[in-house]
Amino acid sequence: MAKVILDAGHGGQEPGAVFNGRQEKDDTLRLALAVGEILKNNGVEVAYTRTEDVYDTPFEKAQIANQEGGDFLISFHRNSSPQANQYSGAETLVYDRSGKKVELAENINRNLEQAGFRDLGVKERPGLVILRRTRMPAVLVEAGFLNTQADNELFDSQFEAIAQAIADGVLETIGQGTEDQMQSQSQERLYRVQTGAFKRREYAEDLLYRLLSQNFPAYILREDDYYKVQVGAFRQLDNAVRMEEALRRQGYATFITM
Ligand SMILES: [Zn+2]
Repeated sequence: MAKVILDAGHGGQEPGAVFNGRQEKDDTLRLALAVGEILKNNGVEVAYTRTEDVYDTPFEKAQIANQEGGDFLISFHRNSSPQANQYSGAETLVYDRSGKKVELAENINRNLEQAGFRDLGVKERPGLVILRRTRMPAVLVEAGFLNTQADNELFDSQFEAIAQAIADGVLETIGQGTEDQMQSQSQERLYRVQTGAFKRREYAEDLLYRLLSQNFPAYILREDDYYKVQVGAFRQLDNAVRMEEALRRQGYATFITM
């Protein structure tokens, strides 16, 4: 039986993002518990890093997860932007772009998009403790922006569908092919359009959010000590060239990489 660890972000004295009295720690716990119920009903073993309003540091949570052991870990969070109602959508964070966690992250994002969230993509965040200190493939889901009204309305009105979407992402990943098949998928050559490379993550994020606000499917790739901002991943070079043209029309400096 597959086993999944569910980590409700924040808790106790540490509320996470706060907006108009709404606290991230409450949304993350509610969502983790709902996803857990669905997974259990589908024959998946579930363990939680917390089921109550308590605080543990990310290090302690990673330790709880490692002691519990599991095939995957999902950490639940809600995003926050510098200003209210600035951004909208769901994204899933991974330590790096390798292995099964990327499949899981992509499956979750695709399903969340069907549940109504704008898909902000899968992003690398090698600095996050819960992603780097856990021994199982781990993803961190940012289920919309807590300081964006539209995302909160979606979160509340489509709560069951959102929980189902995340659970479906897990079930699809568990049921998906063999390790070998996944390896060959991840080694496939893809063309990507790069718009910038920065030593400092803040600069990369500024560019990322500008691209996302113009509806470009951008993400950050950490590689060779740089935060590289890239757009799309294409099997056909022609499609990468077309994306590059669209970006250049908006004034971005670009080149195609593999
Ligand atoms: Zn959070």
